[in-house]
Formats: sequence, structure tokens, C-alpha cells
Amino acid sequence: MENHDEDVLAHLLRRAEETAGTRESKLLQDLTVILQAAAAGHTMVLRCAWCERFEVEGEWVSLGAEEVKLGKLADAVTHGICIDCFRGIEPPPRSSHGED
Ligand SMILES: [Zn+2]
Repeated sequence: MENHDEDVLAHLLRRAEETAGTRESKLLQDLTVILQAAAAGHTMVLRCAWCERFEVEGEWVSLGAEEVKLGKLADAVTHGICIDCFRGIEPPPRSSHGED
């Protein structure tokens, strides 16, 4: 049996310790709790399909490339789009005067 999910969570907690006292640390800890609950089927985690960040308390938390191989946690992830990417891919507003 693979323990990759636990590796991911352990890595998150390690990063949270490394950044202790910062906002990022708090979000990483919260993300760990959310991922654990999600893996247990209690909730879903929203992830931006463009930049691959996770939503935590309305903020978007980035994980490194090695963390995103999420074992069975992947089943608990639902994909959406964060506001930054949404703004980036949003088409420019059309002129209502048809200047083309
Ligand atoms: Zn994004």
C-alpha cells in the first residue's frame, strides 16, 4: 500500500514549520487539514486548473511540483479557476458600438 498521500501531508506540514509565523504557514496548515478531510470524503478541495494552486479560506496556495502528485487525494480535488487566472483569460470587453 502506498503512503504517498501521507508523504504529501508530511511535506505540507514541514513547509508550514519552515514558514512558521507567516500567513503562508497558517494557510499550509489549513490546507493540510482540508486535504485530510477531503481524503476521508468529508469535503472537496478546489484547485485552479490553470496555475494548480489550492483554495484555502478564499486565498490561493501554491504547492511545489512534487506535491501535486496527489495519490488518492486527487479524487477529492475538484477543478476550477482562481481569480487571477480568470482575469488573465477573460476576453477583453466588446465595444457596444461595433467599431470593428
Ligand atoms: Zn489560477
